[in-house]
Amino acid sequence: MRAIHVAQTGGPDVLQLVEVPAPTPQDDEVLVEVDVAGVNYIDTYYREGIYHAATPFIPGLEGTGRVLHDPQGEISPGTLVAWCDGFGSYAEQVCVPRDRVVAVPQGISPHEAASMLLQGITAHYLTNGVAELKPGDTCLITAGAGGVGLMATQMAAAQGARVYSVVSSDEKEAAARAAGAYEVFRYSDNLAEQVRRHNGGLGVDVVYDGVGKSTFMESLEAVRPRGTVCLFGAASGPVEPFDPQLLNTHGSIFLTRPSIGAWTAQEGEFAKRAQAVTQAVLEGTLTITIGGAYPLIDAAQAHRDLEARRTMGSIVLDIH
Ligand code: NDP
Repeated sequence: MRAIHVAQTGGPDVLQLVEVPAPTPQDDEVLVEVDVAGVNYIDTYYREGIYHAATPFIPGLEGTGRVLHDPQGEISPGTLVAWCDGFGSYAEQVCVPRDRVVAVPQGISPHEAASMLLQGITAHYLTNGVAELKPGDTCLITAGAGGVGLMATQMAAAQGARVYSVVSSDEKEAAARAAGAYEVFRYSDNLAEQVRRHNGGLGVDVVYDGVGKSTFMESLEAVRPRGTVCLFGAASGPVEPFDPQLLNTHGSIFLTRPSIGAWTAQEGEFAKRAQAVTQAVLEGTLTITIGGAYPLIDAAQAHRDLEARRTMGSIVLDIH
């Protein structure tokens, strides 16, 4: 089969199209024929070696396609499914843990389905877990027009929260506003000051920071006393070590560094969150913005665009 290989970790150029043998599923997996693979920022961490995978490996975690073989015979061949946590999804075939597979209902396109789970479930646990946002709550979302950012903005706004968003361009600002952001800032603004100017002099209840290194200190300043800073990613790089006393000086604030793994680990939790996201897409309350679709051979270009901040919403690879 055709697949993108990483023989040695590094920059986007290490993503090479190769021919490799198709994988064989274990009992707790299903084999799927990939139609579309979702591209996530986390894929760049594996490619760079920031997150470890033994080389050579095929990157990618999520996608949509048809089941080829279920060793337990529970899912019929040909069933249209989406998944996340299927390491090796930048390929024509991948083995996916059976408890991370959901059926794709009619009405959801292959591109939407391929971007729906990893980013959608993340947005869901951020707004319905790390914090249970309710009407009148306020939050700040960095990378507000990214894949997770646009979904988290829609979910937070739908729950009645006031969303302040941070983006890098006018085009991204328009997308964040369309998703329901109340006010949109630039990174060069003094974020803590901007938040207080628009928020009655107060910090926000929750900061969702997926940018990391370059925004983290401002995130601590933008939250209200006893509020929560949720550091959920590192698009600008990992946060440097810091003195926990800062959490005191900013007013007894809470800091969490969550993962989708921990927030889907309870019995039935993955299915519940996946169902909520799927239902929202079907009902039209959650729009998945596909900012780019690349042929498999252009996986490196997809990564270049993602890391150069040229993309908006979710991006995907068309496998065939
Ligand atoms: P995005 O589509 O949001 O792309 C990343 C965005 O980050 C860019 O578009 C850019 O938006 C912004 N950004 C700010 N500074 C930089 C920088 N120096 N270099 C590159 N980008 C920068 O990606 P995803 O939706 O896939 O992921 C968003 C974040 O969520 C990532 O940090 C990812 O690791 C994290 N994540 C965490 C999960 C978890 O469970 N903890 C699960 C899934 C994702 P702009 O141009 O507007 O600044």
